[in-house]
Parts: sequence; structure tokens; C-alpha cells
Amino acid sequence: MARIVMKFGGTSVADIDRIRNVAKHVKREIDGGNQVAVVLSAMSGTTNQLIEWTREASPMHDAREYDAIVASGEQITIGLLSVILQSMGINARSWLGWQIPIKTSNIHGAARIEDIDGTEIIKRMQNESQVAVIAGFQGLASDGRITTLGRGGSDTTAVAIAAAIKADICDIYTDVNGVYTTDPRIVPNAKKLNRISYEEMLEMASLGAKVLLTRSVELAMIHKVRLAVRSSFEDPETARPTRDSDFTNLTTGISNHPGTLVCDEDEIMEQELVSGITYSKDEAKVTLVNISDKPGISARIFTPLSEANINVDMIVQNVSEDGKYTNMTFTVPEGDLDKALKVIEDNADNIGYEKILSATSIVKISVIGVGMRSHAGVAAKMFETLAKKGINIIAITTSEIKVSVLIDAEYIELAVRALHTAYDLDVN
Ligand code: ASP
Ligand code: MG
Repeated sequence: MARIVMKFGGTSVADIDRIRNVAKHVKREIDGGNQVAVVLSAMSGTTNQLIEWTREASPMHDAREYDAIVASGEQITIGLLSVILQSMGINARSWLGWQIPIKTSNIHGAARIEDIDGTEIIKRMQNESQVAVIAGFQGLASDGRITTLGRGGSDTTAVAIAAAIKADICDIYTDVNGVYTTDPRIVPNAKKLNRISYEEMLEMASLGAKVLLTRSVELAMIHKVRLAVRSSFEDPETARPTRDSDFTNLTTGISNHPGTLVCDEDEIMEQELVSGITYSKDEAKVTLVNISDKPGISARIFTPLSEANINVDMIVQNVSEDGKYTNMTFTVPEGDLDKALKVIEDNADNIGYEKILSATSIVKISVIGVGMRSHAGVAAKMFETLAKKGINIIAITTSEIKVSVLIDAEYIELAVRALHTAYDLDVN
């Protein structure tokens, strides 16, 4: 017997038929002898609609009422799934955030989960084989009001519930069947990863792979919750139910998992040098031409930017030819470009530069892998591969498990494909 959390997103509960399909996935696990808690999103489109109605009602609205409204989508889906499960002879009940309770901070619209008491849910699983059907995305603040966790927050609820009830695994069912070495729309022979470490997944999620919410991966890493991505479109009846032995002998068992397991590095036997290649189009570059090459200039540029809450990612300062003037290039999220330019212009006298150039037709390409901690040459291979294709690198950043380069947007597909091949990630 394993204890599992099954999370289904908006497309998986989009209508009654799809919710019946979810019920079949749940039934398979119950029949397999498992204890199950389900976390659901609202039907796809519902949350958007609720937000729209709120804005239409009043653009300047009370954030507490916003939460009361937008949290309601999940109330519908958990009730419906519970009714369907009951009609199949399965003991099930729905739980809203406040009923458990899922205690959160009181930052309405972007609350953080602080504490979940899992005792009652565990007791009912053990004594009555009851399935807990839990509303994702919502919680209860200390002021007694309903909160929501921010868009996509049900992934976070699922991981937090898994930690609270000490689940063996938290399966995130979605419309893809796992995490891939890169975007299969660019590289059709991208490989589905069997396992990936929390840290790599965190980099992938924050660098543009949209399968899991970054916050949920962070939470899983902190609480050591095994997380998996799998497809809700696989046949719910023929899939093999999770078994306890999947976790007692991790080196063999869990490889049967149909999706991708996100777990501790130690649980991954054959570590690839590079596990994934991501890209992010959401970048903008700013160049300050002819700034003085003297101490203190960087601080005069980047302090006001950080005070304006703008995240600067890559920074390159050119070598100054005459020892007096140089150029400084840095990147910011595309959505913050206008704000960044304004901050620089407002501080023009203090910084001192000849002109500002900016561009958004650039992308950041990253190669990620915990294997690079112990192997040299990963970055060199990246640069060589791009050089062979005649792709110019505008800027570079590295971390322990990642190398990112900034290139012209027109080369995105060429670069991703060439790198995917260079690191031997193509499916043969
Ligand atoms: N329903 C919420 C949203 O659309 C939460 C979620 O789906 O994860 O953002
Ligand atoms: Mg989602």
C-alpha cells in the first residue's frame, strides 16, 4: 500500500466527461490498495473568467473579495469529482482550504502556505478508505478570510498536502506525459526523462519549461516530496497502479513510473552530464554606451534597478580600450524593459553615459545538468557547438549546474537543435 497525492489541472477537469476520466484514474489507485488524496484545479478557463468578472465589477477591488471570488472555481470541481466517485461506490469527500485547514499568510492573491494539519485526512484514509478531494489554489489566512496562492497555485497545494500527509509520491497529471530534454516542438526527437533532480527541475521550471510551477518544485525539494509529472490522457484503466515496492527499492522499482520522477539527486543512478536544454524568449537587453571606466559605476547602474525591483540577469562589461570609457550590457525580463529604461534615464546624470541601446529580439539558451559539477568541458562544448553554426554569443552566465548564453532570437531553433545533438540527447 502506498499513500499518494494525485493532482489534476484545469484541462483534465474541463468538463464532466473529463472529470469521469479523473475518477477512473483514482479508482485504479484505490483498487490497487492505495490511500489517495486528490487535489484539483478549476475547470480550464474558469479562473480567468472569475478574474475578468471581478475586474469588470470594480477595477479597484478588495483583495479579500478577489480571493473569495476566484477561489470558487475549485469548489465546483472537487464537489463534482466527489459525487462521481461516490456514484462509483468509492468513499470520497470534498475539502475546501479552510476546512482542512490549509493555513496561509494573509497576502491576498499571492498567499504562502504556512501550515497544514494532515491528521484528519490520514485518519479517514486509514479508517474508512476515504478519498480526500481537496481544492487546490486556496487557503485560510489568520484573519479568517479565504486566500489564493497565485496563478497555477494548485501544484503548490498538491506538494504541500503530500508533505503534510507524508505521501510516498505526488503525481501531477497534466496534458504532457513527462519532462523532456527540451521542447519537443523544436526538437521532435527530444527524450522524455525518466528522472530528474529537484535542482535541475527548478532550473528548468524557472528557465521556461512550463510543466511545473517553480514554487511547487521548491517546496518539494525542501520537504523531500517525490514529485512526478504524468499524463491524464493515458488510459486510466490499463495504467499500472502505484505499488509500495516502487519506493522500497527505488533503483529498480520507480523506473516503471510512466512519467518523469522529480527526486533527490541520490535517487538517480545514471546521471547524464546534461539533462535538459531550455530557452527563454522573455528577455531584453540594454547597452549603455561609453560609461566611464572607474570604480562605483556598476553600483550607480544596478542599485537603482534593484530598488525598482527589476531583476537583472546577465551582465557584460566590455574591456575598455582607452582605459577611460567602456560599454555595459545587461538583460532584464522583457516585461520590465520600459521600467528599466526609465530608471536608467532618471539616473542619467549620476551614471554618465553617451547613449542607451535596447533590444528584445534575443533569447537565452541554457544547458542544465547536475553532472557538470563533477565534469569540466560542458561550457566549452556549448560555445564550440554554437561557433560551428556561426551563432554569436552576446552574453554568458553560469551556475554550478547551468550555463546560459544570450543569442539573437533568429537562431533559437538552430541553437537548441545543435546543442541537443551535441550533448547526445536525441532519441535514436
Ligand atoms: N485555477 C487556478 C489558476 O488557474 C489554479 C491552478 O489551476 O493551479 O491559476
Ligand atoms: Mg497548472
